[in-house]
Amino acid sequence: MNEHDKLKKIWEEIKYHLLTEDREITGAAYETWIDPLKLGKIENNTIYFLVPEENAGDGVGINIIKNNYTSLFKYAISEKMKKTYNIEFVKDDPFYEYVEEKGEGVSSNLNISPSPQVQLSNLNPSYTFDTFVVGPNNNLAVSAAKAVVEKPGYSYNPLFLYGGPGLGKTHLMHAIGDSIIKKYPSKIVRYVTSEKFTNEVIELIQNGGIQRHRDIYRSVDVLLLDDIQFIIGKESTQNEFFNSFNELYFQNKAIILSSDKPPKDLEVLDERMRSRFEMGLTVDITPPDYETRMAILRQYAAHLDFAVEDEVIQYIASNIHSNIRELEGALNKVHARNKLINEKITVAVAEDAIKDMLKDSEPRRITPDLIISEVANFYGISKDTITSKKRTKEIVIPRKVSMYLCRELTDSSFDEIGKFIGGKDHSTVMHGYSSVAGELSTNPTLKEEIEKIRKKIMPPQ
Ligand code: ADP
Ligand code: MG
Repeated sequence: MNEHDKLKKIWEEIKYHLLTEDREITGAAYETWIDPLKLGKIENNTIYFLVPEENAGDGVGINIIKNNYTSLFKYAISEKMKKTYNIEFVKDDPFYEYVEEKGEGVSSNLNISPSPQVQLSNLNPSYTFDTFVVGPNNNLAVSAAKAVVEKPGYSYNPLFLYGGPGLGKTHLMHAIGDSIIKKYPSKIVRYVTSEKFTNEVIELIQNGGIQRHRDIYRSVDVLLLDDIQFIIGKESTQNEFFNSFNELYFQNKAIILSSDKPPKDLEVLDERMRSRFEMGLTVDITPPDYETRMAILRQYAAHLDFAVEDEVIQYIASNIHSNIRELEGALNKVHARNKLINEKITVAVAEDAIKDMLKDSEPRRITPDLIISEVANFYGISKDTITSKKRTKEIVIPRKVSMYLCRELTDSSFDEIGKFIGGKDHSTVMHGYSSVAGELSTNPTLKEEIEKIRKKIMPPQ
């Protein structure tokens, strides 16, 4: 990346920061004074901003800008650059030495080539591919992510990653961003959580900065939008996002989305959105198997510089299954305990250190009552209807599904189940159970419904 590109990129970041994170600048002030500014040279630790002639006026404009924005710019820039600069605003004079054709100015005076610790993007530097353990649960997602890095915007666009909490979606997104920046330093990569995006939109609609927000989002080369389920369902943000999405999509800019559920389960306001999401590649990340959990824990122990017995790691890996954040949290607790008592950690000590976490993840007790509630919920009828004597068509299926799931998921006998379901007798329940069991192989809709209900009853651990 040449020096000029570097500058442009920094300025884009700063503008984005001022527009979205600075609550003092109104949309109008932003449009009038800040957006027209151009970035000039950087010399002796001073950044020169060029004020267009019509704003500079006879110096009055420049003074307004100076008085209002110098300290703000200083602050924003030092935040982004992790370094403090002086700020000067000067009239954008065509003869000013900044002019690029002169060959000096920009390139020779720039000492800002980002040193490694200067982080222009909001990516977490420890979330890279190198630190991401690959296992059967995520290898497809990792391959897809790497393909996107090879050809951003062309392979798998958009890439839609989904999976439960703590399984590595955010980590993988940062890794994609990080690798793209390393491979194509001039690309503008923006990672944003849906929560932040939503807040930006709401706030900027109110204070008039929404057009700038659009421009800024539409000028990125790579957009990584995390936890998109928060945007879907909120009308204004959903539309705002979808418009930007379309623009980027048609310009072959890379879009990477994450969600806790696949596109087909998102409640989109506009069906076109769902089909767009499915145009690229949808890939899920599932809970890691034992081997992968072990590998993650070993890596994390090394990261903490924590020499821990394999037995202890095995204990954690066998007791925490479904969330890598919790897996790491458990090791943190054991590590903290180790620092406290300063003696060798045994499995017994580890057990004690993480006992609170295990309590939380204890499976909930599955009872016929719970099952009937979940079935009723799923079909949108009341529990009482399922246990009533009515025999209308809408009730027959939920009732049989309840019988089936009670038999499958609890130890209750057909008799006992019958008692729960409105006093039905043994043979009615048995008949209900076998009719569902028999239909499963020929009726994929029913099968899918039952799977969904089963997941509600037993959320994946
Ligand atoms: P999600 O976004 O899916 O909720 P995160 O990406 O925030 O999950 O991951 C939670 C934590 O687990 C993070 O600290 C992340 O670094 C770690 N993590 C997740 N998957 C892996 C993996 N495959 N290898 C190493 N660490 C992982
Ligand atoms: Mg996340």
